[in-house]
Amino acid sequence: GAMAERTIRKNADGLRVPPNLTSYAAAVREFSWEEARRRLDGLPGGRGLNIAHEAVVRHARGPKADKTAIRFLRKDGRTEDWTYRALDRASNRFANVLRKLGVGRGDRVFTLLGRTPELFVAALGTLKNGSVLCPLFSAFGPEPLKTRLTLGEGKVLVTTEAFQARKVAPIRAELPMLREVILTGASWDGLLEAASPDFEIPPTNPEDVALLHFTSGTTGRPKGAVHVHEAVVAHHVTGLLALDFHDDDVFWCTADPGWVTGTSYGIVSPLTNGVTMVVDEGEFDAGRWYRVLEEQAVTVWYTAPTAVRMMMRGGTDLPRQRNLSRLRFIASVGEPLNPEAVLWGVAAFGLPIHDNWWQTETGGIMIANYASMDIRPGSMGRPLPGITAAVARRTADGRAEVLEEPGVQGELVLKAGWPSMFRGYLNETERFQKCFADGWYFTGDLARRDADGYYWFVGRSDDVIKSAGHLIGPFEVESALMEHPSVAEAAVIGKPDPLIGETVKAFVGLKADAGPSEGLRKDILGFARQRLGPAVAPKEIEFVTGLPKTKSGKILRRLLKARELGLPEGDLSTLEEAP
Ligand code: ATP
Ligand code: MG
Repeated sequence: GAMAERTIRKNADGLRVPPNLTSYAAAVREFSWEEARRRLDGLPGGRGLNIAHEAVVRHARGPKADKTAIRFLRKDGRTEDWTYRALDRASNRFANVLRKLGVGRGDRVFTLLGRTPELFVAALGTLKNGSVLCPLFSAFGPEPLKTRLTLGEGKVLVTTEAFQARKVAPIRAELPMLREVILTGASWDGLLEAASPDFEIPPTNPEDVALLHFTSGTTGRPKGAVHVHEAVVAHHVTGLLALDFHDDDVFWCTADPGWVTGTSYGIVSPLTNGVTMVVDEGEFDAGRWYRVLEEQAVTVWYTAPTAVRMMMRGGTDLPRQRNLSRLRFIASVGEPLNPEAVLWGVAAFGLPIHDNWWQTETGGIMIANYASMDIRPGSMGRPLPGITAAVARRTADGRAEVLEEPGVQGELVLKAGWPSMFRGYLNETERFQKCFADGWYFTGDLARRDADGYYWFVGRSDDVIKSAGHLIGPFEVESALMEHPSVAEAAVIGKPDPLIGETVKAFVGLKADAGPSEGLRKDILGFARQRLGPAVAPKEIEFVTGLPKTKSGKILRRLLKARELGLPEGDLSTLEEAP
């Protein structure tokens, strides 16, 4: 069928670099978490496991001490290289600053910083000190800042002088828990220089809390997910298996550390694997991004569907004019990756884009397309070795019923207990407990598994449309719309209908060379009906100039729906303001 024809064949021998995972079946058979744990050092003297030790200390004491850990691309065009040794010493100084302030184990340290060296120094120093790191996205205004600092009981905030004046000062009086605001800028260098560059990480229990991450707020008010130091085992090994890290890689993760991807794969995983990473301070700009890929000789690139779709808008000329011969692996996360986008990667870069799936709650990649495994465009791939996934249903009495039959739609569930699984939602014990039944973690996403074990995303359970007895996943409809030559992006919602439950409405953004017209609307409706059949195709199309998205680039279907139905808009703290 159509799906098989589009399969992108892969095999380990055909790749430029021998992949870490050569055979999926063998890797699944041979994997054990104990062995994954043995790839890490642990604190000297058996004093536990600490993320920052694995990320920098062990490299700073070994042959990689003078290797570039991070190359910062500053907004003013400068580049700034930091070795593993430099990162280790500076973060030691920051840990000493915290210690001197009386900030200790379990205390929450928030950051509100751009993608600059101070952010990485503060993050690693916080983890060394046994304090809990909570990185916030720097575009947050005072209100979302206040909510998160209050909920997370932030004791320390590290931020810039400008953010302090604009965003922190107005709410400072309402934050009695916040004891210290540490400023970067003029006073930062002096503060660090006054502290010792030597620091011994105190004993760290692998179950000690390390990270606090707020979810993206796509389905409602953001939740605070709590993670522990043991998560580093998953961060490390998923980097090897799903992102195929090799020693000489130059890795670029485009996510901000304010979102879980930007911490797990923008700080921890690449550093524990000892690669060199590129950190770009600037915002998205297709032309500049191609230049970064070329000039920095990026080999592994981890980005998001929204960015890919924006790059697709500009066509394949720009990437083809660049020498991107060093690039060998591209991956994407955060939203479903339309089959169109996977194939566009081949046209633009000569490489497919490898979709993978995970959440703030899972802490690391759970389902992925691997370098050596055939890709079925539109599928999230297969579970990581060490991860047991299934499609399941909750029974009326709250149990998990696993649906073994391939092709059946249900909730995506994971066998609980992997190292980077969240240990709680901040102040929401009951909500946390409700995520589990019979040893399974219920993800809130709907999926299908095919006969070969590939998982196909259907939609978030909140977004699924019930129409005339069908369950319609928005992703399938949006992907079909995306195949129309004039469509750049699409989002669909269900609208209440007295007869059939809900009807499908699509919001469509057009490519630069197309303009909205009645003719085009009819054409797209007909196109969708032909691909999807009349029961699933949208009944209504509204042309829009842009779709509402979270600051991390996810389409906010719930907001489209609330506006359409005249309902309250809900929590908009992560809404990206229209440019
Ligand atoms: P909130 O939980 O606050 O509503 P969120 O779920 O968007 O926000 P994240 O944890 O950042 O917060 O995102 C995880 C979710 O993103 C997943 O549960 C899934 O719905 C979606 N997602 C991530 N990667 C993929 C992917 N490859 N394919 C489809 N969906 C994905
Ligand atoms: Mg979620």
